[in-house]
Amino acid sequence: MAKLKLNDLSMQGKRVLMRVDFNVPLRSDGSITDDSRIRAALPSIRRILEQKPAILILMSHLGRPRGVSNHKESLAPCAKRLSELLGQPVAMAPDSIGTAVEALASHAAPGSILLLENLRFHPGEEDPEKEPEFLEKLAKLGDVYVNDAFGSAHRAHASTALIAALFPGRAAMGQLIEKELSFLAPLLENPKKPFHVIIGGAKVSSKAGVLKNLLPHIDALYIGGGMAFPFLKAKGIPVGSSLCANEDVPIAEEILSVAKKNSLPIYLPIDIAGSNKEITSLFSDGIPDGWIGMDIGPETVDAWEEKLKSAATIFWNGPVGVFEKPPYHIGTRDLATFLAVSRATVIVGGGDSIAAIEGLGLGSRFTHLSTGGGASLEFLEFGHLPGIDALSDK
Ligand code: ADP
Ligand code: MG
Repeated sequence: MAKLKLNDLSMQGKRVLMRVDFNVPLRSDGSITDDSRIRAALPSIRRILEQKPAILILMSHLGRPRGVSNHKESLAPCAKRLSELLGQPVAMAPDSIGTAVEALASHAAPGSILLLENLRFHPGEEDPEKEPEFLEKLAKLGDVYVNDAFGSAHRAHASTALIAALFPGRAAMGQLIEKELSFLAPLLENPKKPFHVIIGGAKVSSKAGVLKNLLPHIDALYIGGGMAFPFLKAKGIPVGSSLCANEDVPIAEEILSVAKKNSLPIYLPIDIAGSNKEITSLFSDGIPDGWIGMDIGPETVDAWEEKLKSAATIFWNGPVGVFEKPPYHIGTRDLATFLAVSRATVIVGGGDSIAAIEGLGLGSRFTHLSTGGGASLEFLEFGHLPGIDALSDK
């Protein structure tokens, strides 16, 4: 069912309550290291302000305060940064609910912006049973509700999903969520073929669901990073002391057998950089005893690039090596550099993958970098997200 969008809402003279994802990384002095999540909300914010609302009330979580307020996880630095980006004042509320906040919300000058304090300072945000009144007090602040927090749309929390029920016919998605869906939904529905998927990162079990759901839709699968070792082991190739949980091997076996049945090619590393900084080929004896596989090797990158050239659509999640520790960033760097100039539609999801790409200054060269790592993977796994399901039908 199609959901309400920002442009379907009448906002003039209304108090617009919008959930955003301002969960930005902060330095210990409270300064913001990367404001891209704040920038990602600007299109919706500007669109709402054009409609002359009574007030725009923004709300977000930051970090994991677990229901207790603390100075370090205050959203105040985000209010300051947003105000700089917009060139207009952004008031900071002392809390997310309560009489003081209600007064600020109803007596503001027309068209002003108020940022509520970290929602997770209240236990009711993540667990409504612990603070049943939280949801209603929050909803009381607005006349219409907008969700633009794609990065939190896979969570069924008070502000991301449950609150929508208190705005019947008045709960819409913002432009960031709309944009994310416009890139991610076609991957499940009608990707331009051939569609190739690259999966790296660390845990097979947490990504097995996505892999299984994607198998029927794709034409080739590349598995690198820590994800590769259970697959290599499942094929009888020794993995030395590399990251490889025993329980992940049968999962890898199952994926390999489904792929075989469907004649879907799975490309695994053919050489590996070990923690001794040496490269070993996997053609003869596999990874030697005592070696820890840290990165895919240069032969693998070459072989994968050759195959990736034929793809029309590529989805990439997970670095193919321990990119945080040079020289084990080389595989990820070379793959990212190749994908940046590829003519295919290249979509990347995942916090670490995007950090690696941004660190190389290649962000703008990709078709789409999803702002939600977990959310984009869950969307590909299940085809929907609780924060979007909860919105009003069109
Ligand atoms: P994303 O955040 O993009 O979804 P993940 O969180 O799944 O990615 O995985 C990123 C992590 O995987 C990084 O911390 C990286 O160091 C780790 N990783 C990559 N390759 C290996 C490897 N060969 N062995 C152990 N860890 C790895
Ligand atoms: Mg990660």
